[in-house]
Amino acid sequence: MVRSDSPVLQPANRKGSKAQLFMLKMRLTALIFMIFIVIGTATAAGYYIGSQETVQAAKPLQAQTQNALTVRLAEQKSFCDAVEKINLEQQLVHEQEIANTLALSIEKQQNAIEQQQSALEQQQAEMEELETRILSSLMANFDDHLISRSNSSADGFVEEASNLIDLSRRLNQFSQTEDANDLDLSEYKQAIDNRLLRLPTLRPVYGRISSGFGYRTHPIYRYRHFHSGIDVVASAGTSIRAAASGYVTEAGYHSAMGNYIKISHGNGFTTVYMHCQRLHVKSGQTVEKGQTIATVGSTGASTGPHLHYEIHLYGTPVNPTRFIMD
Ligand SMILES: [Zn+2]
Repeated sequence: MVRSDSPVLQPANRKGSKAQLFMLKMRLTALIFMIFIVIGTATAAGYYIGSQETVQAAKPLQAQTQNALTVRLAEQKSFCDAVEKINLEQQLVHEQEIANTLALSIEKQQNAIEQQQSALEQQQAEMEELETRILSSLMANFDDHLISRSNSSADGFVEEASNLIDLSRRLNQFSQTEDANDLDLSEYKQAIDNRLLRLPTLRPVYGRISSGFGYRTHPIYRYRHFHSGIDVVASAGTSIRAAASGYVTEAGYHSAMGNYIKISHGNGFTTVYMHCQRLHVKSGQTVEKGQTIATVGSTGASTGPHLHYEIHLYGTPVNPTRFIMD
């Protein structure tokens, strides 16, 4: 501390001392000021240098941090990718599971359908087997109804025709029942029909029989002779039908028979139609059972409109009335 009563200052020289004191104070003040400036400058410089060092020191740190962040970012991205991938895979697995379930369900349904189909097929096979058995049994039965070659007599054929007509009638009755829908007997029916179609069971003309088969006195020549057919009286122009399906072997005119037709039926039977007014078929033609082949007339040795009708079995005349079954 600087005191005014300092022993350095002389009281005798008080005026000069005051000026010296003032100068001293001024110097002190300047010194202190200088010191402050120096300290301040130094401090400022130190701060500057220090901050520069800090900046310089921070630069690599910043780069390091940035690198670390970049790495971290990359890691996070890859993590996200991984998570996303896992999610996608899970989704994929889920979809796959759904698809598998669906496929399994479809397979089950298909199996069920196949089983039903197989059951149906089995049923159908059983039905067919049953049908075959019934049919073969019927056919065996049918064969029993046919006459053998060795027994191809008129009696045999009459019996066969009678049996076939009976079978056909029963078959028609059966075909009207519900069971007929499950059973295809067309083959059987066809067999019966084919056989029957060639047997002369059809009446060629409806009318009174004026003269029967057998011995009689001839209506014109008045002598006793064998009448090999039947005379059916009908008005002129009445349709004459084929007694069975067959093949026309003769169609022409004869002085005694008049306009006449002969039909071969391919089974030993031949039918003859005489005294016709007109002929509707020609020799060599095939005819169906029931087809109109001529009209009733009185041509040849005849006393009036009638049909003289004959059936021959292997060339021998048989009584037509035995075969007419309609
Ligand atoms: Zn006659």
